[in-house]
Amino acid sequence: MTGPGRRPLVAGNWKMNPSDRDGARALARAVVEATQGAEAEIVLCPPAIWLEDVAEAVRGSGIGVGAQTMHAQASGAFTGEISPPMVAGVAGYVILGHSERRRLFGETDADVSEKVAAAVAHGLVPIAAVGESTEERRAGETEEVLTRQVRAAVSALPQVAGSGLVVAYEPVWAIGTGDAASSADAQAGAALIRGLLDAGDPTGAAETRILYGGSVAPELAAGYFAEPDVDGALVGGASLDAAAFAAIVRAAVA
Ligand code: PEP
Repeated sequence: MTGPGRRPLVAGNWKMNPSDRDGARALARAVVEATQGAEAEIVLCPPAIWLEDVAEAVRGSGIGVGAQTMHAQASGAFTGEISPPMVAGVAGYVILGHSERRRLFGETDADVSEKVAAAVAHGLVPIAAVGESTEERRAGETEEVLTRQVRAAVSALPQVAGSGLVVAYEPVWAIGTGDAASSADAQAGAALIRGLLDAGDPTGAAETRILYGGSVAPELAAGYFAEPDVDGALVGGASLDAAAFAAIVRAAVA
């Protein structure tokens, strides 16, 4: 169960789905409908091209909208990228350092550091994703990897307290595989992350929402949310099904 002052947060990472605008609008409307009255903070992260449509579809519902990535610079010759002010014009959140961005698009810890600071500077809530790969876990390097990634993610922030930072613990081996982490593993990762934040900024550590992500499904959600350091979830596949996503949202405040 989330700690004092930490409102549970459930974010849906739609990745490169749905394939058309009508589908994006319909999914957003279905989530609004299915989550009515839920007390958790809810965020939908569609592809950038559908941000405006999804923002329009959820207007007035209390549901937030987030981008899945962005560039750290406010403007410039960065073909294909979107800037912090562009995101801030339509959304309130941004996922940064997702393992797919790191693994497939070469995003580094240094990039994540700059992007987190840029997000905060532009009034966005950064959802910084961290997590170890299968190989790193097998090699006993989970702690080392999380330490490096978390320290990098906050390194360019003047302070964590008051920044609104959210950290998502997403073990790479659990993402999109159906091989979800156990609640105990999710808690161990989240506790490690909070401990790392606590070393530099106890107030910031106490405030920061830490989400678990990796094959979260409705039947697993309550187990994660019962853990003291897990304050919500970052949901991929199940966020494309409004009923499944709503069941996860409801478990967050049960
Ligand atoms: C994700 O992509 O952030 C994610 C957690 O995906 P899934 O829930 O499908 O594992």
